[in-house]
Amino acid sequence: MPELVVPGVHRFGNALVNCYLIEDGNSMTLVDGGLPGFRPQLDDYLRSRGSSVADIEAVILTHAHSDHVGIVEGVRTDAPAPVHVHEADAEMARTGKVHPREGSMFPYFRHPAAWKLMAVGARNGAFKTPNVEEVSTFTDGDLDVPGRPRIVPTPGHSPGHVAFHLPDRGVLIAGDALCTYNPLTGARGPQVMPKAFAADALQMLASLEALERIDAPITLFGHGEPWTEGPAAAVARAREIGLT
Ligand SMILES: [Zn+2]
Repeated sequence: MPELVVPGVHRFGNALVNCYLIEDGNSMTLVDGGLPGFRPQLDDYLRSRGSSVADIEAVILTHAHSDHVGIVEGVRTDAPAPVHVHEADAEMARTGKVHPREGSMFPYFRHPAAWKLMAVGARNGAFKTPNVEEVSTFTDGDLDVPGRPRIVPTPGHSPGHVAFHLPDRGVLIAGDALCTYNPLTGARGPQVMPKAFAADALQMLASLEALERIDAPITLFGHGEPWTEGPAAAVARAREIGLT
């Protein structure tokens, strides 16, 4: 069952991958779409509160990697709801074609976590993620969707990666600009995502500046547990660790 993080913000997914639902009265925004296998969790939760996928007014993406778009096409057509993504990730959302990456996956296979990611991904349909047929693109500013998230451009993990700040909820959804669980090494605590997934690892480190300026009691990630010591402290830890 989705976990309530703060009033009106729910986290769902599994131990390795998160996505989020923002509630604003009876309207909702889905933030990222996790893995295809997550859809029943969303439907069960919506049913439990007397609503349905039709109450999802918008889907917003921190970026278009496959582990963040799993249920997006289904929600887009069932709700129906527009899907908003940064213009630099729009093509990846529509085609599933990933940008060149900085590092090879190969060295990570000494970590059991990398094998677990593959196994859990396969069980949840990660290798059969439907493309998002239609997207609407943004670059900066506020999104006029339930929760009114502020876009925080944080490129590097992908070319169009963004975080979403919800000032009135005290929440920063950092996406994969930071994580508290490294899906390839299994290491916990604030750090940047592994180089093997990054479009530009140095740009990913430079993007941390945009996060450390944000004041938010709760920081949420695509991978790992919520962080409650503020983005600046998370960024300081991530810089200490450096590239992973
Ligand atoms: Zn991810």
